Amino acid sequence: MKVVKFGGSSLASSTQLNKVLAIVKSDEQRKIVVVSAPGKRNPDDEKVTDLLIEYADAYLANLEYQEIQAQIIQRYEAIAFELNLGDAIIEDIRQAILNLAEETELSQDAARVMDRFKASGENNNAKLVATFFQKNGLKARYMSPQEAGMIVSDEPGNALILPSSYDELFKLRATEEVLVIPGFFGYTEKGEICTFSRGGSDITGSIIAAGIHADLYENFTDVDAIYAAHPGLVKNPHKIKELTFREMRELSYAGFGVFHDEALIPAFRGGIEVVIKNTNNPSAPGTRILLDRQPGDEAVIGIAGDSGFAIFYMSKYLMNREIGFGRKVLEILEDESLNYEHMPSGIDDISIIVREHQLSTDVENRLIDRFKKELQVDEIHVNHNLSMIAIVGEGMKSNVGTAAKSTHALSAAGVNLEMINQGSSEVSILFGIKSCHEDIAIQALYEEFFKK
Ligand code: ASP
Repeated sequence: MKVVKFGGSSLASSTQLNKVLAIVKSDEQRKIVVVSAPGKRNPDDEKVTDLLIEYADAYLANLEYQEIQAQIIQRYEAIAFELNLGDAIIEDIRQAILNLAEETELSQDAARVMDRFKASGENNNAKLVATFFQKNGLKARYMSPQEAGMIVSDEPGNALILPSSYDELFKLRATEEVLVIPGFFGYTEKGEICTFSRGGSDITGSIIAAGIHADLYENFTDVDAIYAAHPGLVKNPHKIKELTFREMRELSYAGFGVFHDEALIPAFRGGIEVVIKNTNNPSAPGTRILLDRQPGDEAVIGIAGDSGFAIFYMSKYLMNREIGFGRKVLEILEDESLNYEHMPSGIDDISIIVREHQLSTDVENRLIDRFKKELQVDEIHVNHNLSMIAIVGEGMKSNVGTAAKSTHALSAAGVNLEMINQGSSEVSILFGIKSCHEDIAIQALYEEFFKK
C-alpha cells in the first residue's frame, strides 16, 4: 500500500488534476491520497493558502474581505468548471468559504481563527479531488483528518501529531476505496482545527504512511529529483538518485525546501521509504530517501546554503579552566527562550550561532548585558548577516580530505570562513560565511565536488 501526496502546484489547475488522476489510476497500491491546497499556476500567481491568510487577516482586522473571498472561490470554481464537476461541489465549497467569516466569532483567539481559515484550503481541495476521482471511475471518497484519526497538539500553526493517533490511523489499511485526505491539519483532543507549520501537507503524508505501515510514501511535486545544488545557482545540477534520511535532514536544515524537514521524522521512525517524484514527469525515477545506503566513491552528495544567522562571539581568559561556564551560557539562552544552532569553542573563546529571526534589538542587548555581567567575559561582539553552507554526504566518513578540498575551493573563491563545524556523525561539514558570499561559495563547492 502506498501513500501519495500531491503538492499545491500539482493541484493548481484542471490540467494538473488530470495528471494526478492518471498517476493514481496507474497503480492500485496508491490507496491514500493526501492533498495540498491549490498552489501557484505560474510564478506570479498566489497560493490559495496565502489568499486564505489575507482573508483571515482582513476578517480579524474588521476590514473588507469580500473581494479576497471571491478570489478564493474563483480558484476552485475555475478548476471544477473545467473538469465538469457539476454545481453541487462548487456550491459546497463556495458556502464553506463564505462560512469562514460568517460562522466565526470575532472574539475568538486570532491564532485559532487563522488556522481554521488556512485549513479550509486543503479541506475544500480534498473534496474537489474526491469528486473528480469519482466522476472518472475511481472508487474514491473524501475523508476528514478527524475521521482518519489525526489528533494533534493544541499549538495553532505549529501542531505536532499525538502518538495515540497512530493506532487509529492503522485502521485505514482496511480501505477498499481510494481515500482523499486533506493535508496540513489535524484536530486537537477537544475537536479544534490546528495546522502544522507551513508546507505541512508533507507532514500529514508522512504520518499517515507511518500509521498504515505503508510500503512507500510518494511525494509528488514539480521537480524531477532533488538536485545536488540549487538549480538557480548551478546550471543543470546533478540529480540525487538516493540519499539517507540523515543526509536529507542536513540538506533541509541548510535550505533545501523540496520536502518539509518535520516530515522526515514519522517516515524515518516508521521505517518507510520516501520517494520525491514529479507530477509533470511521473516516469522519471525521482529521488529516494532511504534508511541506509552504501555510499559510493563520492564524499559529497549535496550542497546547500541558508541565510539569516548571527554569531555571538565571547572570549574570557582561562575559559577552559572555568567549571560550569558552558552550563551558564546555556542557562541564559534557555531563560531567554532562544534556540541555538551551533556552539563551536576555542580554548578561551566560544561562539554561539542563532537564527536571526529570534533576535530583536531588545533581546540582543539583553543577552550581551547578561553575558557580560553573569559570565564576566572579557570581550563580546555580535556578527549579523551570516549564512551557513552545508556539504553533505554519508561518504565523508570514508573519504580523506573533504574538509581540505572544500576550504581550498572556498579560499580560491575569496570566501572568508567565520566558522567551520563538523558534527561527530561526519555526515556534513558546515561553513559559516558572510551572506553576500553565499552564492559564490555554493558555486565553488559544486565545482570542486561535482565537476572535477
Ligand atoms: N497549503 C499549505 C501551505 O502552503 C500546506 C502545504 O501546501 O503543504 O503552507
